[in-house]
Amino acid sequence: MTRTPARDAAIPYDLAGMTMEDGQLGRPFDAPGWMVPSSVAADSGGELLTFNWKDGGHIRQPKSGMLERFIRLVDSRTVDPFVRYARSWGPLGLCSAHDLPYQHHPLPRVARLVGAGGPQAAEYRVEPGLFVMCEPAVDWDRSDSGASRNSEPISAWRGYAHQAQAIVQLAAALHTDSGVGASEWWEALGHPNPSDVGQGRRRLAGLVGRWLHDADIAPQLNWPAHSGPMVTLGAMSLFGALAVQLLTAVARSGWALCSSCGAAYSPIRAPRIGQRNYCPKPTCGTKARHRFAQQQKRRRARA
Ligand SMILES: [Zn+2]
Ligand SMILES: [Zn+2]
Repeated sequence: MTRTPARDAAIPYDLAGMTMEDGQLGRPFDAPGWMVPSSVAADSGGELLTFNWKDGGHIRQPKSGMLERFIRLVDSRTVDPFVRYARSWGPLGLCSAHDLPYQHHPLPRVARLVGAGGPQAAEYRVEPGLFVMCEPAVDWDRSDSGASRNSEPISAWRGYAHQAQAIVQLAAALHTDSGVGASEWWEALGHPNPSDVGQGRRRLAGLVGRWLHDADIAPQLNWPAHSGPMVTLGAMSLFGALAVQLLTAVARSGWALCSSCGAAYSPIRAPRIGQRNYCPKPTCGTKARHRFAQQQKRRRARA
C-alpha cells in the first residue's frame, strides 16, 4: 500500500497550470462511456464496494472534476465517500483475479507441472503460450451472463487514488521547477528520487503510461449510425477515463482531432461522438463549421 505524504506538502494544481478554466483538474473528452448500476453499497465489513446490476444501470461519460474527486478519496476515513463516488461514477472495472483494470494485457499463468518423480518432485513453471485473459466482473452486453452483482475492494480504490495523487503531485513539482525534490511522492510510488529532471520526467511518463496500458487506452474508430466517423481514445471504463484524465492533467493539454484539418488539439468542452469538432485555428473553427454547412446544403440541392 502506498503511503500518503502530509497534505501541506501538496502543490496546488492551479499553481502548476494543470487545471482547466473552471479550476478543475481533469479535462473533458469524448469516450464511448461505461455503465453505472442503479445500486451501489459497501458491505457490512466496510471492505468491499458492491455493485448491483439487477435493476440495470445507465451510461456515464467522463466529465471535468472526475479525477480531482477521485484523488480526494485518499483523505476519507470512512467508506461513505467511496460509496457516493461509486454511485455517481460506477465501478473502476477491476478484475477479480488481480485488482487490475479488466482490460489489462494477458498475464502468464503459472502452470503446475508434475515431473517424472511424481507429485513430490512437482515444480511450478510458467508454461509458454499459456496466458490468463481477465474479463469484466459483470458483462452488461450479455443479458444471459447470469451475474447480477460484483464487488471491488475499497483498499484497491484507495491504492489507485494514492497513485493518482502522487502522479499529479510529481507533475506539479516538475511543472513548477520544484525539481526532483518531491521525494515523498516518489517514495509513495515505490521509486527512489530521480537523479535529474530528465530522469524524473521519463519516470513520470512511464507511470502515466502504465495506467494507459493497463486500461488498454488506444485510438479507436467510432462510427455511430446517422453520423460521421470519429477518432476517440476509447475509454470504456471509469479506470480508463481516469487514466486519460491523468494523461491530460500531467500534459496540461486535452485531446481531440479537428474534423477539418485533422490536427490534434486541446478542446475546452468535451467533443461529442457524431458531431464535428474544430480546432481554434483561424481557417478551422466557425469558418470550417460554416463551410461544412454550405457543402451539405449544396449536396442536398443536387440530390
Ligand atoms: Zn486480471
Ligand atoms: Zn483544424
